[in-house]
Parts: sequence; C-alpha cells; structure tokens
Amino acid sequence: MINLSPSDKALVPFVSVDNMMKLIHHVGLEPMLKGLADYIEADFKRWELFDKTPRVASHSSEGVIELMPTSDGEVYGFKYVNGHPKNTSEGLQTVTAFGLLADVYTGYPVLLSEMTMLTAMRTAATSGLVAKYLAPKGADTMAMIGNGAQSEFQSMSMKAICGLKTVRLYDTDKAATQKAARNLAGMGLNVVACSSAEESMEGAQIITTCTADKQYATILSDNMVGPGVHINAIGGDCPGKTELAPAILHRSDIFVEYPEQTRIEGEIQQLDAHHPVTELWQVMSGTAKGRTSDKQITLFDSVGFAIEDFSALRYVRDQIAGTGLFFELDLLADPDDPRDLFGMLGRAAG
Ligand code: NAD
Repeated sequence: MINLSPSDKALVPFVSVDNMMKLIHHVGLEPMLKGLADYIEADFKRWELFDKTPRVASHSSEGVIELMPTSDGEVYGFKYVNGHPKNTSEGLQTVTAFGLLADVYTGYPVLLSEMTMLTAMRTAATSGLVAKYLAPKGADTMAMIGNGAQSEFQSMSMKAICGLKTVRLYDTDKAATQKAARNLAGMGLNVVACSSAEESMEGAQIITTCTADKQYATILSDNMVGPGVHINAIGGDCPGKTELAPAILHRSDIFVEYPEQTRIEGEIQQLDAHHPVTELWQVMSGTAKGRTSDKQITLFDSVGFAIEDFSALRYVRDQIAGTGLFFELDLLADPDDPRDLFGMLGRAAG
C-alpha cells in the first residue's frame, strides 16, 4: 500500500489544517464522511490483525494529553490529542490533534497530518456508522445535546450515513446553539433550536450527547430516556468524565469500540468491571447481534479508538494523491551514506 520512490523517500507529506479543509471541500463533506465510515468499517472488520492498547493518557487538573497508537502489521499510526474542557472559555479548542502514519517495514513516516478537523470528521463518521447498525429503522430525528465543535459534524454524518432529516439542538450556552443552527442552515437538515434537553428529545429516535465537562455530569437522567432509542454518547471519554445517569446504562444494551479502553474512559466506568458489553467490530463482522427489538435502548459508549484514527489517516493518504493538497516536509535526516550522519552535519556547515 505504501510506496516510497527512492528520490523522495525522506520527504514526508504533511497535510496542514488549511489543506485538510480544502480536501474536505474537494471531496465534499458528506462523501468524505461516508468515505471515512467505509474505511473505519473495513478496518473494524479486520480487527484481529491490529495491535491494540488503551490510549496512553497524561492527566492534569485542567485536562488530558493522549497518544493513540496502533498497527496492522504493515502500517503504524498514532494520534496526539488533548481534551481540555476549560479551553473554550480562553478562546481555545477543547480538542486538538495531529497524527502520523509510518511504514512498518522501514519505520519511516509516510504521512503527517493535522487531526483536529480530521478527528471531528472521524468521530462523526464512526457515530454515523454505528447508528447505521444500531438505530431504530427509519430513524430520522436526532436530539443533539452539546452544540460545540463536534456537533455539526455529528449532525451531518447522521444525515449522510443514516438519512437523518431533523436535528433538535440543545446546549446550556444559547450562543452555542445559535452557532450550530447558523452553520447547519441550508445543509439539508430541518434544524430546531430547543431550550431544554427534554425538549430536544421530543420525537427523537437518536440522542447524541456531546458535552464537555470534567466531571460525572448528568446530561441524561433515567426518566428522560424512553424505550427504543439509540443513544450516541460522545462526551464521556475520560476517567471521571461521563454524561449519563447509571440507571440508563442498566436499561441499555451497550456497544463499545475497545472494552479495555472504554472501561477506563467511557460511561461504563460507572459500572462494575464485568458488566456485559458488545464489541462493535463483532457486530460489523456479523458475529454479534446489533439491535434486536423495537423496544431496546442501544447505547454507543463512544470514547474514540486508535483504529478510527488509523483508518482516517489511511483515507487521507489515499485521497491526497494527485491533489497537491500537502507539503513535503524535510522531517527525516537521510544521508546518502546511511552511516555518515556526522559527515552530513559537517557538509551543512560548508
Ligand atoms: P466543545 O467544548 O466545543 O463543546 C461542548 C459543548 O457542551 C459546549 O457548547 C458546552 O456549552 C456544552 N455543554 C456543557 N455542559 C452541558 C450540559 N450540561 N448540557 C448541554 N450542553 C452542555 O467540545 P467538543 O469539541 O464539541 O467536544 C465535546 C465532547 O466530545 C468533549 O467532551 C470531547 O472530549 C468529546 N469528544 C469525544 C470524541 C470521541 O471519539 N468519543 C471525539 C472528540 C471529542
């Protein structure tokens, strides 16, 4: 899959934020969300090939900085990502990221990319993909609780992948709802701004929670959730940071990316360590059941897993070929004589 020609083997393609945005417009927002979902689904279907580990997290009182590595044996990838809920009050993003792909055979990086925009795209694509398997048939209305940076991507992915028609927005900060409503206007969704979480859930078959607060928050309490809905819980993704009342978890069938990571970071950190969960790769491979009844509450306890980032980087690498939407970075010292690194330094002085 990865071909480095001898002449450019040490130059690493770099996709900047500007070029990532151009790539999304070049491919089209909805086609790219669908394309990312296809790559993620393909990689989930070959799950057992991958090296897997819960992400490596460095926590502080303000937030978390994480590394998310994986490899399929031919290609290695990792993402650097932070999560700082207090950042927006300082004019900064809650989540920023960049990532890298490398050739396992040489160990040489073959792609470096911004991943703040790409994380929003891949998180949304994963939500849409999972809802395709778990949401009730004909689901066309979603409550979108938490109208920050991820929210429009989440809404558009549900439209592109699941045929969502209406999104009902709610955020404790009205300005966030107004921003999301403005951004989604003219995008082919019926957009309804709501003044409470309960109101946003009226008639919704899909409930997305995507808030940011470093605490055990209760965005959804038990009495708010009726039978038959699909909950797409995005914001609880750190130890001590959850969104759902535990009673909801006991009434739901819970689906996760990688249990070893989700038990540390997801909603299920509130449950005992042996509470049954279903792994999404098994649903996608047909070895486990998804939704089995109209009354069932399905819960995607999303935390974001390294393979989704690997798939997203793989997608970007395949898409940028021939577009010019990257810079070539002089990232690796690569002397003609591999043992003469010191000589290369000396020649640079001259
Ligand atoms: P953001 O800070 O831009 O937006 C969060 C929004 O939630 C804000 O508008 C805030 O006002 C709102 N909010 C806070 N408490 C609320 C409440 N009680 N009710 C309603 N709204 C409330 O953050 P973001 O970039 O959109 O990310 C949202 C969350 O998703 C974060 O917690 C982030 O860590 C998480 N996230 C998860 C994944 C994943 O793969 N699961 C990926 C990216 C981000």
